[in-house]
Amino acid sequence: MPYRDYKVNKVNVKVKYKFEERELKFLSSQMKQYIIKRLQNNVKALHELGKKGKKVGKIKYIKSLHSIFLMQYGNTYTLDIKKRTLHIQGLGDFKVIGLEQIPNACDITTANLIERNGDYFLHVTVYVPKEEVHNRKAIGIYLGVKDQIAFSNGIKVNYNVEISKRVKKLYKVFSRSQYNKETKERSKRGQKVLAKIKKEFAHENNQKKDINNKIAHYVAANYVFVAYQNDPINEWQRLFGRRIYQTSIGGFRDTLKRKVSTPLEVGRFTKTTGICMYCGYSLHLNLSERVFKCPSCGRVQDRDVSAAYATKYEGLSLRNVGETLADDDASTSSMLEYLKSIPHVKASIAGEARSPEQTDVAQEAPSVKVG
Ligand SMILES: [Zn+2]
Repeated sequence: MPYRDYKVNKVNVKVKYKFEERELKFLSSQMKQYIIKRLQNNVKALHELGKKGKKVGKIKYIKSLHSIFLMQYGNTYTLDIKKRTLHIQGLGDFKVIGLEQIPNACDITTANLIERNGDYFLHVTVYVPKEEVHNRKAIGIYLGVKDQIAFSNGIKVNYNVEISKRVKKLYKVFSRSQYNKETKERSKRGQKVLAKIKKEFAHENNQKKDINNKIAHYVAANYVFVAYQNDPINEWQRLFGRRIYQTSIGGFRDTLKRKVSTPLEVGRFTKTTGICMYCGYSLHLNLSERVFKCPSCGRVQDRDVSAAYATKYEGLSLRNVGETLADDDASTSSMLEYLKSIPHVKASIAGEARSPEQTDVAQEAPSVKVG
């Protein structure tokens, strides 16, 4: 019979070779209940894996628990957005930063309190109604290696969150630290440095996620139809390694899929590069040809932007979308301004490549400055 006494308030803690009885303060019975529930679920999952023939190791004690599930908003935990505080049942009030990430009109549900490398984070799950866009606008997206994102309206985005010099320095210190082969342990100093490195990486990952979210949010809020190609991003990762790692372009695509009201996925083997965005002429491009001149109509265009353009039309015709509203200069320019305002993001309009729809009206509309 599994142990189900949620009222327990004394626990045995193993200290070296013997057990000490310690008082269990702070955790409410609901939190305990969920810790036990999660443990049961994990055991079940392991059992299922074992049945499928996967190797499953022995269950061991862990020294510490790094996350606590907060089950009920308004009961187990409460947020005060104005005062920027978090109240956790049995633990008290805490100052928190980053509450502006929680959208205005949303349902706050569960949360996970997480300890990571000495810092505490709260992951909050909220329900937001999907963005309703009524403008029937469409955009195509091309994900690349050199410039990470190209849009069919001519905007190119480049974002690199560089591995900081601090990490490089820390890594040097770490690699020189003592490693005991018998105990399989790093020296105290080595362990401390490793914790710092992990913290830096976590920070960078958060920055990347934040950038992905911001770009995807803008696209979802302004375009109903968003076409992208189902590129084998995992394969790129193998080929180009670090660059992809630094931008986590796969993360961007996943975020986009989730947020957009009508995602249009184009198959990975569909030809999208080397199709003239003005006359549709198809040619073969080498990877080094970033800009090309159409042999049929003679117009010069950016490789990635024309690919984004082809992706857009492929996606629209696949789903038989019918008439969509053309993008205009004003919306392109406000998108550019928005993207430029995101830290670490470089956005610009690719040289000659403007969406053909836009060039028709470009004479009167104010032109977009190249950043
Ligand atoms: Zn052409």
